[in-house]
Amino acid sequence: MRILIISDIHANLAAFESVLADAKGDWDYVWCLGDVVGYGPDPNECCELLKTLPHLCLAGNHDWAALGRLDIRTFNADARKVVLWTQEALKPENIAYLDALPTTFVLGQYTLAHGSPREPVWEYILDPIIAALNFPHFETPYCFVGHTHTPVIYKLMSERGDTDAQAPVYRQPAQLNGHRLIVNPGSVGQPRDSNPDAAYAMLDVETNVLEYRRVPYPIHVTQEKMRRADMPERLIARLEHGW
Ligand code: ZN
Repeated sequence: MRILIISDIHANLAAFESVLADAKGDWDYVWCLGDVVGYGPDPNECCELLKTLPHLCLAGNHDWAALGRLDIRTFNADARKVVLWTQEALKPENIAYLDALPTTFVLGQYTLAHGSPREPVWEYILDPIIAALNFPHFETPYCFVGHTHTPVIYKLMSERGDTDAQAPVYRQPAQLNGHRLIVNPGSVGQPRDSNPDAAYAMLDVETNVLEYRRVPYPIHVTQEKMRRADMPERLIARLEHGW
């Protein structure tokens, strides 16, 4: 069974559609690691497109913010503005969809969370030290997370907890080799690794072969919609620079 792994779509329909086009339907099921909405101009369209696919989806912090479940004073001013816009824009059926999302999932050899297995909605795994602290918090060999918008693989190197960070190699299927891993596919709708292309991954759960991918998308289409919605210029500009 082949899995299309996506995360942090952030209401960016053009990026989401480009990922689906690039994946060419060569998958059986979608794992979406949360933050379907927030930052971008297409929250309803992204929920609705996701709902047409065979998938499971986890709750992200921006999904919860759009539901009013979080105190958004911890968000920066630009993000806060778009949270309020998203709350206004979301249709009731899409609010109900986001409201029902779970925070973690365990499937065979894989644990899934938006942020981390230890703090599924909130924690950012930004370096090997935080990754090392998270390995005791899941039991499967492999864990997939999103949230940082940066594609990376953390590999547990020893029983003592030594952990390495590895940059992904794109379009090169690689066999997971039994090392315990925390894998981040990157972000579909707002990459932050200085590469503006949408990021995703493909996984064969029978053979444990993982492939990272990037795909360009028409960024200006999303930026135009953001301008029409009077979204913050900083959020519009960051998409073309990938930060
Ligand atoms: Zn996010």
